[in-house]
Amino acid sequence: MKKILFFLLFCASSSFAQNADSLQIRKIYDEILTNGECYKTLTYLCKTIGPRLSGSIGAAKAVQYTKKVMEDYGFQKVFLQDVMVPHWVRGVKEDAYIENGKVKTKVPIVALGGSVATPTAGIKAEIIEVKSFEELKTLGEAKVKGKIVLFNRPMDPTKINTFEAYAGAVNQRGNGASEAAKYGAVGAIVRSMTTLQDDNPHTGGMRYAPGIPMIPTAAISTNGANLLSKLLKENPKLKFYFKQNCQTLADAPSHNVVGEIRGTEKPDEIIVVGGHLDSWDLAEGAQDDGSGCVQAIEVLRAMNALGIKPKRTIRAVMFMNEENGLRGGTKYADLAKQNGENHIAAIESDNGGFTPRGFGMVGTAKQIAKIEVYKNLLAPYGLAEIGRGSGGADIGPLGNLGTLLIGFKPDSQRYFDFHHAQNDKLDAVNERELQLGAASMAALVYLIDKYGL
Ligand SMILES: [Zn+2]
Repeated sequence: MKKILFFLLFCASSSFAQNADSLQIRKIYDEILTNGECYKTLTYLCKTIGPRLSGSIGAAKAVQYTKKVMEDYGFQKVFLQDVMVPHWVRGVKEDAYIENGKVKTKVPIVALGGSVATPTAGIKAEIIEVKSFEELKTLGEAKVKGKIVLFNRPMDPTKINTFEAYAGAVNQRGNGASEAAKYGAVGAIVRSMTTLQDDNPHTGGMRYAPGIPMIPTAAISTNGANLLSKLLKENPKLKFYFKQNCQTLADAPSHNVVGEIRGTEKPDEIIVVGGHLDSWDLAEGAQDDGSGCVQAIEVLRAMNALGIKPKRTIRAVMFMNEENGLRGGTKYADLAKQNGENHIAAIESDNGGFTPRGFGMVGTAKQIAKIEVYKNLLAPYGLAEIGRGSGGADIGPLGNLGTLLIGFKPDSQRYFDFHHAQNDKLDAVNERELQLGAASMAALVYLIDKYGL
């Protein structure tokens, strides 16, 4: 009898909690969908500040701006973390053309972040197309030396999640130049990382392997890559010309920006929600990753507006330098370790401000199971994909401290239409989708704060 009574009481209390939680989550969504300010913040970030590549004036302005926004909201503590960042500049606009006999056809390219310049007059050479590093190796020095290599493996269109397609192609951008240089290539041109067929070249970070000559490298638009590939089949002797004068300057001082609401019961347990404040220089960094930053701020704003007093400390973090160094994310975790801080969970939004689908997690089975319990509460908001997945680049280093890493997962179909290209502007972001993402993260922060991990 006692057992039954206990069971009944347990059921009653847990369904009451579910009810209270679903009401509170409803209120969070209502607040953000009716009074949300994240789009307004994003508008300023995109239209008044603009591109925010690490070390640039835009990045410095964005640091001061987001700090002020959070101070104006009255977050209890707003502070900067010093971090030295790489400072790469594109220089004058790149130039490229295909020289097929007497016909010159211009094609759109952009230098990859971190690349060296070409000689002032540019580079003109025969070009050889490959789809993989294995193919390049088979060709060897005999076929590659003195030429430009075209890496032309597309993102696999059959992958439903476009981030998987990206992961399957992006080594061409990151490592292509050094792989090509191993066999004596003089330049590397990489098919843009996008599923679209269009004329926008997409930049992105690249790294030179130590001990291998540093050759200039650029991305070509998918239409440009297709044209080049077609012409090469007709005339393997055609030439490719490109010119760029980018350079890497000395490291520059910059900052992560942190806003905090201190916990009332367990202030030493910290929950982070964040995005990265730096963006590529070609556009406004609206989807990548202005969206994630303004959503993080919105989470704390909504909690304040609703009078939610978290038990644990909640931080909105704008990480610096995700795109070409990850110095901000690394510094944040270093400081957390140094200061003995206990970060129980970190949520990152860096997959765009699109319609929410769920959360992917990196952590122990026990940590992940704790979050999976909330599936029923989050399902009515379209958050169906909750389980093991990937976290986020900036929060990654916190994983070494045992923090549960959570990646916000929006719909992925359009992200690579804009990613690192000149069209990643404010009009690429839908206000309502952006708000829904912020509300999704606020709901999850609310639950993690209430029940812990
Ligand atoms: Zn990003």
